[in-house]
Amino acid sequence: MEFPITRANTLKPKPDPKTLVFGRSFTDHMFLMNYETGKGWYDGRIVPYGPISLEPCAMVLHYAQEVFEGMKAYRTPDGGVQLFRPYENARRFRSSCERLCIPPIDEELFVEAVKELVKVEADWVPSEPGTSLYIRPFVIATDPTLGVHASHTYLFAIILCPVGAYYAEGINPVKIYVEDEDVRAVRGGTGFTKCGGNYAASIRAGERAEEKGYSQVLWLDGVERKYIEEVGSMNVMFQVNGTVITPKLTGSVLPGITRKSCVELIQSWGIPVEERLITAQELFDAAEAGKLDEAWGTGTAAVVSPIGEMTWEGKSIEVCGGRIGALTQKLYDTLTGIQWGTLPDPHGWTVKVC
Ligand SMILES: *Cc1c(COP(=O)(O)O)cnc(C)c1O
Repeated sequence: MEFPITRANTLKPKPDPKTLVFGRSFTDHMFLMNYETGKGWYDGRIVPYGPISLEPCAMVLHYAQEVFEGMKAYRTPDGGVQLFRPYENARRFRSSCERLCIPPIDEELFVEAVKELVKVEADWVPSEPGTSLYIRPFVIATDPTLGVHASHTYLFAIILCPVGAYYAEGINPVKIYVEDEDVRAVRGGTGFTKCGGNYAASIRAGERAEEKGYSQVLWLDGVERKYIEEVGSMNVMFQVNGTVITPKLTGSVLPGITRKSCVELIQSWGIPVEERLITAQELFDAAEAGKLDEAWGTGTAAVVSPIGEMTWEGKSIEVCGGRIGALTQKLYDTLTGIQWGTLPDPHGWTVKVC
């Protein structure tokens, strides 16, 4: 697939990789593609990064018909650039689009567009340890009308931003607040999709938790408020008495690619994994009985994020002595090794860009 490229007249200076703030500085170019009913997706192109113009009545601004993805390009020791399981992102993007009534984008085209843009911006992929180029594909409904219906026109875009090392100060386990008031998603809703609306609904609990001194919220299910779903915007896993347990994908849990990769790695190491319903009560009981070995979140940004403490209904438990556990550390080392190309990739998860 070939996309026409319009080059930026002047290139921006690259930011210092040591002081990068996530999501603040973007590269010189972006990918755009339009959709119109009857015409399908058309005019895929790479153009200079810059503002896009929208009618104030554009559907996305009022009814949030929007989905996105989050992935990274990694600098390998040989100076090349690679992606991690991009076809999984393409597949999830398609499934998010279908739920939001957005015409899906061909998975091959999605990956090609990502690869072509990253190739054009290869100089922006930083090489300092732990740094990467974050990739944000998204699609918005652009119909200029306030009528509530599926839009007939859409814009698909991909933007890129270099990101610093997530654990510049070392991996420190976080304090988690079990949220018992707000819910993030319900079965039958959009919890399994990456849509902006889910995030809008989750901001309040996150802000409250931060005010109380916690860094993330542990979400419970929206119906019975007793089953654990996710932590912040990450999936969550626990090791209880040797067995790894993680909430099953009931429809209100986001099917994370890091989650899937962790499950596959843990199974390949001969450690039992169960994907099932887990109550907060079960976890707190396990912790009191000294059987909660480790707990961690999983997601593209952090890879794994160890949980050192959890608070639920006024009761706090410490996990793994507030330190990162051996299995969490092994997952982190293995996944980051494969992603940055410092370890072999026996599962064929990486895709070379250049
Ligand atoms: C993106 C996301 C995740 C993690 O998915 P990865 O594919 O592992 O990055 C988990 N939960 C939510 C709500 C998310 O939006």
